[in-house]
Amino acid sequence: MNYAKKLVVEPGAKVRLARFDPAYHGKHGNEEEAGRALEEMKNKIGALQRKMYGDNRHSLLMVLQGLDAAGKDGVCWHVVGAMDPQGCRVHGFKVPTGEEAAHDFLWRIHPHAPAKGEVAVFNRSHYEDVLVTRVHKLVGRKVWERRYDMINQWERLLHEENGTTILKFCLVVSRQEQLRRFAERLDDPNRQWKISESDYTERAFFDDYLEAFDEALERTSTAHAPWFTIPCDHKWYRNLAVAGIVLEAMEAMHLEYPKPSVDLGEIRRKYHAAEQAEKKGSV
Ligand code: AMP
Ligand code: MG
Repeated sequence: MNYAKKLVVEPGAKVRLARFDPAYHGKHGNEEEAGRALEEMKNKIGALQRKMYGDNRHSLLMVLQGLDAAGKDGVCWHVVGAMDPQGCRVHGFKVPTGEEAAHDFLWRIHPHAPAKGEVAVFNRSHYEDVLVTRVHKLVGRKVWERRYDMINQWERLLHEENGTTILKFCLVVSRQEQLRRFAERLDDPNRQWKISESDYTERAFFDDYLEAFDEALERTSTAHAPWFTIPCDHKWYRNLAVAGIVLEAMEAMHLEYPKPSVDLGEIRRKYHAAEQAEKKGSV
């Protein structure tokens, strides 16, 4: 199954999320079967990510955006959790602080871009500056409109200057499933902390968000930083799809462990000699 090919937003393609099916779940009929497939993929992702850390030439940036309750946090836990924390960092972007707001919108983002060998995961990102700011008219049309080009140029910089593979995930949940998940949070003491007033007030803007996403995806899905639309009504399909796309991207990197910088034969001879000396000493 080629998840990337199935779910990618082709550069230049029209996007209409209102017509997208968030309940799509591919060929896996049930959660159990999908769970086994996910475990297999996670093992491979973990091994490749450690190789990437050793290889130290490539880096990966995963951008997680989406509708509230679609599962950005779930993807971090179920997919990114496969990676070795050494070499992987997750950063959540909140409402900008006073200092952040006093700078250009990319100022707070750039320090979190992945270094060579690393994976960086953005739980929300610079895209908030063409999404929430647009929907709530925090800045004027002129301001958010010119940001698409700035974003494309910045992502190109990461790609060309630092060998960064950029994968951007737009997590889409249906209105009904979103409401069901909010209700679930209300009833679950382990999830109540996640509820915010804005969850309910933002629902009134559901269609506005879809429209803002449509344009963002159309304007910023590029060959070097593609968007993927992920159907999220079934959490297990969401996890599989994201894991599949990450795995395919890592496999395409043709990662290799670096050649040892020392003469292994020479070191083996030294160890051998030391072993012999130990043995003689203990007789
Ligand atoms: P959460 O991800 O649930 O912790 O919520 C973070 C909140 O910060 C969301 O309501 C986002 O819309 C908001 N946020 C993130 N980035 C920005 C931004 N650049 N401008 C305004 N609000 C933002
Ligand atoms: Mg949230």
